[in-house]
Amino acid sequence: MSTVNETLIRDIVSEVLGRLGGGPAKPAPAPASVPAVNPACGCPIVAKPVSVARRGTFGVFQDAKEACAAAHEAYLQLSQKGVAGRTKVVEIVKRLCDFNAVPWARLELEETKIGRLDHKIEKLKGQRAIPGVEFLQPYGLSGDHGITLEEYAPVGVIGAVTPSTHSIPTAACNIISMAAAGNAVVFNAHPGAAKCAVTAIRVFNEAIQAEVGIENLACIIEQPTLESFSAIAQSEFVRLLCVTGGPGVVKAAMQTGKRAICAGPGNPPVLVDETADLDRAAQKVIFGAAYDNNLLCIGEKEVFVLDGVFHQFMAALDKHGAFRLNDAQVEQLAKAAFVFPAGQGAGCPHPVVNRDLIGRDPAVLARAAGVNIPQGTQLLFAETSADHLFVKEEQMMPFLPIVRVKTVEEGIAESKKAEHGYRHSAMIHSHDVSHMTAMAKALETTLFIKNGSCVAGLGNGGEGYSNFSIATTTGEGICNPRTFTRVRRCVMVDNLRIF
Ligand code: NAD
Repeated sequence: MSTVNETLIRDIVSEVLGRLGGGPAKPAPAPASVPAVNPACGCPIVAKPVSVARRGTFGVFQDAKEACAAAHEAYLQLSQKGVAGRTKVVEIVKRLCDFNAVPWARLELEETKIGRLDHKIEKLKGQRAIPGVEFLQPYGLSGDHGITLEEYAPVGVIGAVTPSTHSIPTAACNIISMAAAGNAVVFNAHPGAAKCAVTAIRVFNEAIQAEVGIENLACIIEQPTLESFSAIAQSEFVRLLCVTGGPGVVKAAMQTGKRAICAGPGNPPVLVDETADLDRAAQKVIFGAAYDNNLLCIGEKEVFVLDGVFHQFMAALDKHGAFRLNDAQVEQLAKAAFVFPAGQGAGCPHPVVNRDLIGRDPAVLARAAGVNIPQGTQLLFAETSADHLFVKEEQMMPFLPIVRVKTVEEGIAESKKAEHGYRHSAMIHSHDVSHMTAMAKALETTLFIKNGSCVAGLGNGGEGYSNFSIATTTGEGICNPRTFTRVRRCVMVDNLRIF
C-alpha cells in the first residue's frame, strides 16, 4: 500500500510528466457526434474520460467500478497504438519480471509464506517464454469469389482472478496474453497474495504509461473482496472473465452469466509401469512434485506404481533424495494436514486442507509428522492406500503418496478416480505406447505428459509454450493470446486472385 508521501510524490511526478508531454496520454479529442457505443468493440462510450491515473494510482484502485471504467479507457487507447503498442507492452512486462524476479519472488514468499524462493524466481524469469503478438496469425482464404480474412480481435476489458499460489506470475502472464491480443484487464487477486500483485501492477503501469503512453492498462483492486469480484463481473465494461483458482471461484465465475475462461483445480496422478526407466521416473517425479513445494496445479500429487517394480521405484526415490515416511508418520502428518468440518469425523467426504501446511517446506511437514529430515530434502513420500486422503485431496504439499497397483488397468482406473474428472493433468512413465494411449483416453486430461515431469507440459524440459492459467474446466487449454480474442471475419467479394 502506498504511503501518503508516496502518493503525493507520484501525483507530482505524474503532473510534471504530463506537462512535459511525456506522461499520461491525453484523451483523444471527442468526435463531432459521439456514438453511444464504440464501434470497435460494441462497448458503451465513457462520456467523461476517467482520469484516475492523475491521482497517481498507476492501475491500483479501491473501487472496482472505477477500475473497470479506467481499464476500458486504456483499452481504447491501446486500440490506437496498433500492433507496435501491444508488442511494447508485452516486452515491458517480460523485462520487468526478469529485472525484478528476485525482489518480487521474495515479496510474494514473505506475503504468502508458501512455496520456494528459487522456483518463484524461476517463474518470474520464465515469463520470457509466454507467447505474445506473434501468436495471432490470421486465417486467410482465397477463391473464385474473393478473399476472406479471419482475425483474432480483442474482446475489450477482461476481469481476471488470480490464485494465492502464483500471484505475480499469473497476473504477469495474463497481462502478456491479454494485452498481446489488444485487451485491458482488471484483477481481483487472492486477498492473501494481493500486496505483492499490487506492487507489480503499479510498476507495470508506471512503465507502460512512460513508454507507451497508456494509463491503467492492467488494473487491480487494492483490497480484493468477494464484493469487488462481483462488481467486476457485473461491470458493463467487462466482456470476459478469466479465473485461475479452485472449485469455488470457478463456480462463482460460471454463475455470473458472463463468458468465463476457467483455469480450475486439479489433482494430477502419475502412473509408473514395468516398462518405465525407474531411475529417470523417480527423478522426474521428485522434480515436479517438489516444484515450489507442490503448489503447481499441474504438479504430481499421487503416484500409482505396478506391483512388479514397486520396491525398485521406492528405492529410486530414496536414492534421489526424497525422504520416506513410515505408516505412523504419515498418519500423524494427515492429522495435521486435514481438518474436518465441525461435527464430522475422518469419514467426512470433504475435509478441508490445513492452509498452514500448504506449500510449506518439507522440514515443516516432517516436524508435523514427528520426524527430523536431512537438510535440503525436497520431498517426502510414503506408501499409502488408494483411498487415502493424501491421494483424494488436492493437498499442495511436498509429500507424495505412492500406491501399489496390480495391473495397468487398475492403475488407470485409480488415476481416473483420483483426478476427479477435472481433466487437468496426468503423467505416465512407460515405454509401452498402448499403456500411454489407454491412460490418455481414460483420463481426457488437458495436459498428458509421458516420461517427463509435470513442468515439461509447460515447456520446462518439454516442447511447448508456457502459461500459469490452464483453462481446464472450460477447455481452452494452456492460455495464450488467442484465448482472449473473438474471431472476426472480413470478406471481400470480387475477382481478386492473381493467378
Ligand atoms: P482459491 O480457489 O482459494 O482462490 C483462487 C482465487 O479465487 C483467489 O483470488 C480467491 O480470492 C478467489 N475466490 C475464491 N472463491 C471465490 C468466490 N466464491 N468468488 C470469487 N472469487 C473467489 O485457490 P488458491 O488456493 O488461491 O489456488 C489454488 C487452486 O487454484 C488449486 O485448486 C489449483 O489447482 C488452482 N489453480 C489452477 C490453475 C490452472 O491453471 N488451472 C493455476 C493455478 C492454480
